[in-house]
Amino acid sequence: MSEYDVVIIGAGVIGLSTAYHIKSRHPASRVLVVDKFNAAGQGSTAKSMSAFRCLFSSKVNYLLSDSSVDFYTYVQNCLGVDLKLTFVGYLWLLSEKEYGEMRPILKGLAANNLKYEEYEVEVLAKKLYLNARLAGDEEAEVLGLNDVYKGVFIPKAGIVDADSVAKFYEEEFLRLGGEIRYGVKVEGFIVEPCKPLGIPGEPFFWQEARVSGVKTSVGVINAKKTVLAAGAWIPQLLDAVGIECFIKPKKRQVFAVEAKKLELKRLLYTEGFNPVGCMPFTILPRPRVLIRPFPTESVFWLSYADDFPRAFRLEEDPQPEKNFYEYGIYQVLVKYFPQFRDCHPYSAFAGLYEINTLDGHPVVFEENDLIVVGGASGSGIMKADAIGRIAAALYDGEEYAVLYGGRKFKVSDLSIRERHVERENLQI
Ligand SMILES: Cc1cc2nc3c(=O)[nH]c(=O)nc-3n(C[C@H](O)[C@H](O)[C@H](O)COP(=O)(O)OP(=O)(O)OC[C@H]3O[C@@H](n4cnc5c(N)ncnc54)[C@H](O)[C@@H]3O)c2cc1C
Repeated sequence: MSEYDVVIIGAGVIGLSTAYHIKSRHPASRVLVVDKFNAAGQGSTAKSMSAFRCLFSSKVNYLLSDSSVDFYTYVQNCLGVDLKLTFVGYLWLLSEKEYGEMRPILKGLAANNLKYEEYEVEVLAKKLYLNARLAGDEEAEVLGLNDVYKGVFIPKAGIVDADSVAKFYEEEFLRLGGEIRYGVKVEGFIVEPCKPLGIPGEPFFWQEARVSGVKTSVGVINAKKTVLAAGAWIPQLLDAVGIECFIKPKKRQVFAVEAKKLELKRLLYTEGFNPVGCMPFTILPRPRVLIRPFPTESVFWLSYADDFPRAFRLEEDPQPEKNFYEYGIYQVLVKYFPQFRDCHPYSAFAGLYEINTLDGHPVVFEENDLIVVGGASGSGIMKADAIGRIAAALYDGEEYAVLYGGRKFKVSDLSIRERHVERENLQI
């Protein structure tokens, strides 16, 4: 088999977006995507809550998300591809302390055109039957829960179908003549000298070397450039060649509860926040239980980001833990939304966040002809388009990537060596 121009490891949403953007810039190049699974987006992409928000504390994350959401809107509205993108909005229910922390972020983003609305707690209590005042509730006190002080509603936020986004990029990439091989597991990189001398045992330590492809379960694939977009599995492959990426895997779990009883139906289909007539994606005060509405299925997805002491651990098939709902999410949830009392999940799933431990932003960098793209830190669906464009600009050696809508982004800002981002404080 002759050499490919590019081989991309990983057919998740980020690998496929990168593949599409590289191929659309280079229609004549041979670009191959490989994935150990048998279809597109079967890694973390399939385990996502599939929500999006144009609200981050860092301007970089805001820009990545905002421009990607604009692109998905264009794909759905102008290209007629149904991504199930629905602007249900995000509602942050904040304690007084959290509101104090959030205000400067909102003010800063408002200068960048972010629209938001503040809700008084009495209004929310009436609209959502929210139990905002927990004072006097001994259990709530033991749990360390705080009253809701204010709600902040972000209209440019909502839900999308991660699978449809991944498939959109897959189809467009294939239509341009890109190649994909599923069921191919990459076992390591081929490392060769930049100037081979033909001596057995090359490359020696004194030789300049480069990654020239991958060793896989079906043989060797040679490529001029290798792109590693393997999500939470990135460090596993990178560690073997001594490159640091600051990405670590951590399990996250999601539980699905049906809106069977009347009170839950009424909550799910709350009017007045969005044109769909459903409750927004709602974030409770710390410890931040998340409620993701699924109006077409009459279901809520419930989650909670447990950071400490959850281990960083790579698991091939992470599983949800029953106690995580019963003794965790449920106990907090029913204090604010008593409608959930006695409601238990009918299904659950778990996946891996690929957390960038430096600052909660993606990494996009190149070393020795190997481009690394990932570490979206639990928000890769909503940023995949921008990340793919930045990776394609890096491939072309450009200083700036042009994101959808024309905004420019300095490629090296997401690198490791010349990184220039502020820490993200609204990672959930
Ligand atoms: C529970 C949960 C909820 C989330 N909620 C949201 C959300 O609401 N919104 C949002 O934007 N993001 C969310 N995310 C994050 C989002 O899912 C990820 O950021 C995104 O899917 C990452 O895409 P990726 O392409 O980098 O990784 P992946 O989708 O994991 O793709 C990596 C691919 O690489 C392949 N691969 C790995 N190793 C090898 C190998 N050795 N050989 C061949 N192939 C290999 C894998 O099979 C996989 O298909 C959530 C994640 C989880 C786990």
